Amino acid sequence: MSVKIAILAGDGIGPEIIAEAEKVLHCLRLEFGFSAEFEHAPVGGAGFDAAGHPLPEPTLALAHQADAILLGSVGGPQWEQLERDLRPEQGLLGLRAGLELFANLRPAILYPQLANASTLKPEIVSGLDIMIVRELTGGIYFGKPRGIRIREDGQREGFNTLVYSESEIERIGRSAFETARKRSRRLCSVDKANVLECSELWREIISKLGKDDYNDVELSHMYVDNAAMQLVREPKQFDVMVTTNMFGDILSDAAAMLTGSIGMLPSASLDSHGKGMYEPIHGSAPDIAGRGVANPLATILSVAMMLRYSLDEPVLAGHIEQAVGKVLDSGLRTEDIASSGMQVVGTADMGDAVVAALRAA
Ligand code: NAD
Repeated sequence: MSVKIAILAGDGIGPEIIAEAEKVLHCLRLEFGFSAEFEHAPVGGAGFDAAGHPLPEPTLALAHQADAILLGSVGGPQWEQLERDLRPEQGLLGLRAGLELFANLRPAILYPQLANASTLKPEIVSGLDIMIVRELTGGIYFGKPRGIRIREDGQREGFNTLVYSESEIERIGRSAFETARKRSRRLCSVDKANVLECSELWREIISKLGKDDYNDVELSHMYVDNAAMQLVREPKQFDVMVTTNMFGDILSDAAAMLTGSIGMLPSASLDSHGKGMYEPIHGSAPDIAGRGVANPLATILSVAMMLRYSLDEPVLAGHIEQAVGKVLDSGLRTEDIASSGMQVVGTADMGDAVVAALRAA
């Protein structure tokens, strides 16, 4: 059966890195029997330029029809003066909301070949491979009431609401347990149940889910302050972590920085049926756009995640990840991950090298 992949290149380095990911997809189709059709549409600043909106109606319609979405990146200085609703980031938020992509999967992987890129000692981080599952559409970032009001004593006060319903906790919990099943069956749920009632309910629902439906997965709980500390002290103790929107926002950035190489990290945002949008964690890098030096590996690894989490092709996903490993072994590096003695190549050469390694798989 053929799958349909929506390809949204976006802005800045987006089109350059997406072009390399497409080389990989075409290689899978030509040489590995992967049956897929690809359709392109503009989003972000490119959407505004083409149709006057960062998420043009046909782009959202395509995203709805597709089995999975591959996104480059959005944003750039030329669109910063637009009113908020028309800025490129709204394209991304509109896709997440429109498709109900509530589960954000952010792996932090440090290839042993790049251990020196981290600010932590190589023995602490070399071979690191953890997955943070962050709730993406609820919690304090969306809770109401919210605002800034004037108190009786005349002072202004800001206020937000941290709220999670049982069903919201259960659905992110299921995504996390399912993710753990695809890895080493260990899940750590991060909360602040010693202080917050919302976290108390979170812990209760996640524990019940573990007991009732996922007792093949080893579940542990950790307070968020301890989790932050443990991430920099001994990050390899973790496999899959699941947490709320705000805690996940902070912990996933900290975990990403453990690897020291933003150009290497993919991400996925999934709905409750496993349909997802896949993109590198970095932005549109306007400072290097058009120079042919951007690292395409995060986007290529996003294709691997897409194959594993939405398209049920774990073997092909593994081939891509191994191909990236082989290319790093061979000493090729884009500028952002270069170190002494390595051969620096541009975006297209890096993509070609991954395709060559894939062909040899
Ligand atoms: P950025 O991630 O684009 O860039 C940060 C730094 O990392 C820059 O020096 C850049 O050159 C470098 N970098 C990023 N990706 C790289 C790659 N693949 N290869 C080599 N170097 C790379 O973050 P920023 O500069 O804060 O934001 C730039 C624009 O991107 C802004 O408009 C921002 O809103 C947008 N943004 C978009 C997304 C997204 O599309 N999901 C995420 C973050 C930022």
